[in-house]
Amino acid sequence: MSGPISLAEQACALFRATWRREPASLASSPGRVNLIGEHTDYNDGFVFPVAINRRTFVAMGASRDGRSGFVSTSRPDPVLADCPPWRRMEGDCWANYVAGVAAQFADRGERVPAFCASVASDLPTGAGLSSSAALEAATAAALSQLVAASFSITELATLCQKAEHEFAGVRCGIMDQMSSVAGGAIVLDCRTLTFERVQIPRELSLVILDSGIPRGLSATRYNERRGQCEEGVRLLKTRYPGTEALRDVTTEMLNIGRKNMSETVFRRCRHVVTENARVCAAAKAFAENDFRTVGKLLHESHVSMRDDYEISLPEIDLLAEIASSAPGCYGARLTGAGFGGAVVSLVDTCAADAFAEEVVEEYRAKTSKAGTAMRVVPDEGSRKEEPA
Ligand code: ADP
Ligand code: MG
Repeated sequence: MSGPISLAEQACALFRATWRREPASLASSPGRVNLIGEHTDYNDGFVFPVAINRRTFVAMGASRDGRSGFVSTSRPDPVLADCPPWRRMEGDCWANYVAGVAAQFADRGERVPAFCASVASDLPTGAGLSSSAALEAATAAALSQLVAASFSITELATLCQKAEHEFAGVRCGIMDQMSSVAGGAIVLDCRTLTFERVQIPRELSLVILDSGIPRGLSATRYNERRGQCEEGVRLLKTRYPGTEALRDVTTEMLNIGRKNMSETVFRRCRHVVTENARVCAAAKAFAENDFRTVGKLLHESHVSMRDDYEISLPEIDLLAEIASSAPGCYGARLTGAGFGGAVVSLVDTCAADAFAEEVVEEYRAKTSKAGTAMRVVPDEGSRKEEPA
């Protein structure tokens, strides 16, 4: 008996069925979960994303008729486009994530011919696991093979981010693309785009607990938080002229500057300043195999998002609390922009299955929301795959 069909086989089979020939290249890239470092990216700070073992595969081959075509297992109607020249397709067409990457290659002087692509993935879309960056990164990796281009990790992540800005119309930060291209667990400096790798041992699992409440961080609330951070920087600059972003601010500076700012702006700034410190402390604790400290930092991060940044919800607080007090759990926190979405928890691998089941059950019983759990481990970044 043969096993389940792999994603590589799915992408290649879809390619053959749709475009009636063999793909010339195949690549895959992972989704990610942010372990700690929330709302720090646009403050030039630190984030700690972990690329996970849910991936997007892209199979590719040059076109024969000068037209490009894109198809996905989740969008079986092929999208045809008269590209190149590479331009945005009307509406919020999913294939813009693919065409946008091709446009970025062309902008960098690569000669990108018309091509056909097929996509297969086991990442849920729109669930906060960054399926969009995985699609861009896998497209970039497959396209690099097709046109024999070679870009560094940072160049690839930056061009994927630009594709999302310009073709998908989403002004995302750089975290998702860096995580997907680089893979593993990384502590990323969002100012310099340099990163350090962190080893997460096999004894630890990440369990992503979805609250069943769709992420509701409207652009207004997001922009409001950004505005409050900018306001804090502006006020601190009068005393500390070298301050470019909250990244440059210490707790001591913030306490001195407090008298000039509203209580709300102070608390928003305090979240960002302390969150940056927590990311760095978590990286250090991992290096010392001190998972209790990592768990404590996750908890502190959650409290800070709840009380200072005010982006949590009662149900999310409850979910994080149920998770934190379950056996085998080191710590749990809201992950993602907020107002819904998921909680990430760090759990002993041997306890992880029971943990997932029990936490979801208790959460459902107490809220009547349909929570779900997904256990993940760190995975490699963008990579070439053998066509199957
Ligand atoms: P997230 O990145 O958190 O999953 P986004 O809204 O940023 O959510 O990106 C989701 C969008 O990315 C989808 O609506 C779709 O346009 C595109 N996308 C991602 N993965 C795929 C896929 N496998 N097939 C087709 N489109 C995809
Ligand atoms: Mg996305």
